[in-house]
Amino acid sequence: MSPAATLDRVRSWIDAARRVVVLTGAGISTDSGIPDFRGPQGVWTRNPAAEKLSDIRHYVADPEVRRASWRSRLGHPAWGAQPNAGHLALVALERRGMLHAIVTQNIDGLHLRAGNSPELVIEVHGNLHRAVCLSCGRKGPMQETLARVRAGEADPQCLECGGILKSDTISFGQALVPQVIERAMAAARDTDLLLTVGTSLQVFPVAGAVPLARQCGARVVIVNAQPTQFDALADALLPGPISIDLPLVVRGVG
Ligand code: NAD
Repeated sequence: MSPAATLDRVRSWIDAARRVVVLTGAGISTDSGIPDFRGPQGVWTRNPAAEKLSDIRHYVADPEVRRASWRSRLGHPAWGAQPNAGHLALVALERRGMLHAIVTQNIDGLHLRAGNSPELVIEVHGNLHRAVCLSCGRKGPMQETLARVRAGEADPQCLECGGILKSDTISFGQALVPQVIERAMAAARDTDLLLTVGTSLQVFPVAGAVPLARQCGARVVIVNAQPTQFDALADALLPGPISIDLPLVVRGVG
């Protein structure tokens, strides 16, 4: 089937759907200037050692890892990033009354910034715009902690209890929040069209939403530049770029 015919087909499925669930990953934000992890220009593709620094055990045990993390957070591309046409297409889908949920692995907050309703956005890996104390659980705006780093605190501690501070995101080795994962899986069970967008589908349990939705009778469309392990069970594959393909399949954009 030609790319144009596949786009037409997916557009007609979206038009006919009642409860669309969108599962997003880092690839939806690359056109906003935030690199993904495993794409050709991904952070881990270019520097495999960086993956180890994302492990909570190193972060807790080694002050130098924390200092390096805070230095890197200061310059994170998320601070200046704007939603792109892919994010805005999902706002259009919500306005049409068809969006049941966005399950996002992203931590950049761009779905909320684009204008999707907070009650429809399930952030399974947390949000970089918040800092959290690993001891007492106190949360606060990330920019307040970054101001302390800029003022000279290389490894700032919790102002309440002196505990280790970190972005309120899930690192390797850290438990997911069970209620959040349950909401994501419930959405996957309850959709008639699952659209996965810009994710390599390698991180479980979230990637398990794809076979789950399929088993429950949903159509599955995968929008991704690289192959994924679930391509064989998808009804259609779109290679992107996401910021071009998503507006094309969601009518009412622009
Ligand atoms: P990933 O890096 O494993 O995969 C991203 C996929 O998107 C790749 O297969 C790539 O080919 C594809 N892609 C990138 N740009 C694209 C485009 N414009 N059009 C079409 N396809 C495109 O990302 P993942 O599956 O989300 O897993 C990485 C983990 O890292 C996630 O859990 C997430 O929390 C985190 N992460 C988040 C951000 C963010 O918040 N923006 C950025 C990097 C990593």
